[in-house]
Amino acid sequence: MGLDLLIRGGTIVDGSGGARYRADVGIEDGRIVEIGRVRSAAERTLDADGLIVAPGFIDGHTHMDAQVAWDRIGSCSCWHGVTTVIMGNCGFALAPCLPAEREWFARCLTAVEDIPTEAMMAGIDWTWETFPEYLANVDRLPKAINYGAYIGHSALRMYVMGKRALTERATEDDLARMAAAVQEAIRAGAMGFSSSRATTHVTPDNTPVASRIADWTELDRLVGAMAELNAGVFQVGPDVSGGEAQRRFLARLKQLALQTGRPVMFGTIASRQGDKPNPWTYQLEYLDQCAADGARMWGQTTTRSINAIFSLKSYLPFDVLPAWRELRGLPLAEQKRRLADPTTRRRLIAEEAGMKPRDNVFQGGGAATTDPRRPDYANLYAMKGVDWDDPTVAQLSARQGKHPVEVMIDLALANDNQVFVQPLVNEDPEHVLGMLRHGRTLATFSDSGAHVCQEMGSSLQTHLLSYWVRARQAFTLEEAVRKLTFDNASAWELHDRGLLRTGYRADVVMFDEHRVQPAMPTVETDLPGSARRLVQKAEGIAATIVNGQVTLEHGEPTGRTPGVLLRGPGARPA
Ligand SMILES: [Zn+2]
Repeated sequence: MGLDLLIRGGTIVDGSGGARYRADVGIEDGRIVEIGRVRSAAERTLDADGLIVAPGFIDGHTHMDAQVAWDRIGSCSCWHGVTTVIMGNCGFALAPCLPAEREWFARCLTAVEDIPTEAMMAGIDWTWETFPEYLANVDRLPKAINYGAYIGHSALRMYVMGKRALTERATEDDLARMAAAVQEAIRAGAMGFSSSRATTHVTPDNTPVASRIADWTELDRLVGAMAELNAGVFQVGPDVSGGEAQRRFLARLKQLALQTGRPVMFGTIASRQGDKPNPWTYQLEYLDQCAADGARMWGQTTTRSINAIFSLKSYLPFDVLPAWRELRGLPLAEQKRRLADPTTRRRLIAEEAGMKPRDNVFQGGGAATTDPRRPDYANLYAMKGVDWDDPTVAQLSARQGKHPVEVMIDLALANDNQVFVQPLVNEDPEHVLGMLRHGRTLATFSDSGAHVCQEMGSSLQTHLLSYWVRARQAFTLEEAVRKLTFDNASAWELHDRGLLRTGYRADVVMFDEHRVQPAMPTVETDLPGSARRLVQKAEGIAATIVNGQVTLEHGEPTGRTPGVLLRGPGARPA
């Protein structure tokens, strides 16, 4: 028999960064078997005339651990050409987990990542306890993209130490049990071990998550456990508080990287927030210095600002104020009726003056939406498109001679899908470009699956292609595709993905380079238990193929679920 699938007449951008060329791609049994003028018969042929044919995109920083249980297609990442994700980042994972602690885990994920507890309790068939059992569960689930997972430090610490994990240092016995569990996870196929030192990562009681209680000797021990097997990435949510604390964190992280030799990854960001933020250039020089000294270190960089997102249908910055709180619990139509009433309006606008003043405490998407400070309207954009050229609420307020809150109310009344965007970090596109251009950063860090109603990072890939390649011409398409494919495949040691080459897994995305771009985000209530989330799709992507099967055509799921669990390089057959 011939090929399963033939992609005919497309322009190949193969992921290596090399120049494009015209060719057909033949696929059989989930792998690319022919590239060129393919003459073999195929069960199905896709016409790629005028389209770019590239390897499927790889996103190494997601939190889809819970969502994988109920969302077969892997949204919103799947809509942006993503065919592979790594989850379990920042120490948050759903395994290992004792049955009695499931709800606490769910509530922690709600507190940190805004994944609704009700969605998790309704949407997950929670059968596992250990990390290998969790992987086996992911392996069985029907899924349209590929998933790799870290074992998460906060989960592991809670599993071994119980509630002591939230307050105490680990004993020698705790350390030995955690180290053994890390090795067990690596042998079962974990991509590595993740942790967090980020001040934004707190429990439902507003105390530090378990990983932040750990001291550095604990991290030395657990990353050292991976080093003994010579496998596994260490990913860490960095200290983002700024100043001396962040510099101390980075210095100690370097020591860990040098002594273990394991690949280390953390988020590089350009921030105006925090106490005396260290410039993004400091982080890049640090990456170079680490490499010069012999460490294997990457910065994870998204392709634009990381934003808190507000709308009438989700959060507004004013929700915590008494008059607003009263209003915001009502059905949408009733809220709109009252927002149109002049007396109510005046009261709502007047209340804004009493909001908490801005301070230099670093706020992520979580606190920025649930514990907001008085908005800086010059840093709050009324989104009108996806080209990063929206007006600020301050500009509209000056232009219209209206109070900024009134501007926002009017926009929300005119269009209840109106979105307001508050950049948390990476406000300046030139800073993002500086980070993206650096040879030791990876274009990843969508946080996909997390902050479901607070941020929308899942479109970083289509943003790179539409904004940085097409609008700004800062990268060639070949360079940008390489960042989303081969570079990430290399960093996570996915040895048969990330390139269009014969023998490689057939993860492929076909798109129109002149049209590809993110669509506007909207708030939907499509989570289990009808919980709400932000949804962002894309335009210009003709088809996505995972392990040789078409999973999306023109943005519509085909119903196929060819995605697989990816096991890391340390996996040993059971
Ligand atoms: Zn994260």
